Amino acid sequence: MAISDKINKLKSEKQAVILAHNYQRPEIQDIADYVGDSIELSRRAKAEKDAEVVLFAAVDFMAESAAVLNPEKKVLLPCVGSKCSMVQMLTTEQLRLWKRRYPKTPVVLYVNSLAEAKAESDVCCTSANAVQVVDALDAERVLFGPDRNLAEYVAEKTGKEVIPIPPQGFCPTHILFMKEDIEAQRREHSGAKVAVHPECSKDVRNSADFVGSTSQICRYANASTAKKFIIGTEVGILHKLRKENPQKVFLPAYGGAICNAMKLTTMERLYQSLKEERTQIIIPKGIANRARRALTRMHDLTG
Ligand code: SF4
Repeated sequence: MAISDKINKLKSEKQAVILAHNYQRPEIQDIADYVGDSIELSRRAKAEKDAEVVLFAAVDFMAESAAVLNPEKKVLLPCVGSKCSMVQMLTTEQLRLWKRRYPKTPVVLYVNSLAEAKAESDVCCTSANAVQVVDALDAERVLFGPDRNLAEYVAEKTGKEVIPIPPQGFCPTHILFMKEDIEAQRREHSGAKVAVHPECSKDVRNSADFVGSTSQICRYANASTAKKFIIGTEVGILHKLRKENPQKVFLPAYGGAICNAMKLTTMERLYQSLKEERTQIIIPKGIANRARRALTRMHDLTG
C-alpha cells in the first residue's frame, strides 16, 4: 500500500485531521486536509469539531499554539526536532529582564515564540496582523519580539516606538534574501511583481511591490492580474501558489531560502506519528491559560 493510502486509512480510523503549514514539503501539503499559516491552522484545529487528533505538520511553536487554543484535542507534532530557530532567541528569563527594564510597556509577542514566553506577554500577533495589533494598543511604546525585522516594519507602519527584544532576533531563512537578488530578478523578468515577507530586511522590503504574511502573499497573487511573481519567503509556499494559480509563474527570490525545521516532516514521519500518536504537545495548564489569554487578546483586538 502506498504511504499516502496508509496515512489516509489511519486518518479516518483515528478521526484525525492533518494540518500543514505553507512551508511544508509539497507531498505533505498535498496529503493535508488544510494548508495555511500558523494562526489559520490553529483556527482550523478548533473548527474541526469531530477531530480527536490533530496532526500538525509544522514547527514547535505552531503546534504549541494549537495545543493552547485546543486543550480538548490531542495535538501531535510529527518530528520533535522541528524547532523554529527564531523562537529560541527569546527565553522567558530574557523577557522578564526586558519587562523589568521597561515597566508598564506592553509586551507584544510574535506567535513565533515559546508558549512560556507568550504566557509572559500582554498580547500576541502574527506577521499578518502585527501592525493592526500594535496600532490598537493604547500605548506609544511597546516591547516586541523576537523578530527584529518585523518589529522594524511595525514601527514604520504605526509610527510608534517598537523596541525589539532581543535586539537582534531574526529568522535564519528570511535574512537570506538580498535586495541585489531581487533587482537582478527584476531585470531578468520585467513586469514581474515582487512579494516578500516582513521578516525580510528593510532593504528587501523596500525593493518589493508587496509585503505580507504567507496568507497575504497568496491572496495578493491570487487577486493580481500580473502573470509573473518573484516570491521572497520560504520556498515551500511556491507549491501552494502554483497549485492555486496554474496560469501564473512563480519564482523564488532566492532558491536557497529553505527552512530546515519545516522540511523535517516527511511522509514516513507523518505516518509513524499518526500510527503511534506521538509526539503529543502538552503545555502545563498554568502556562497554557496565560498564553491563551495573550492569543485571545490578539483575536479580540483584530476582530
Ligand atoms: S521560516 Fe524562520 S520563522 Fe519560520 S519556522 Fe523557519 S526559522 Fe522559524
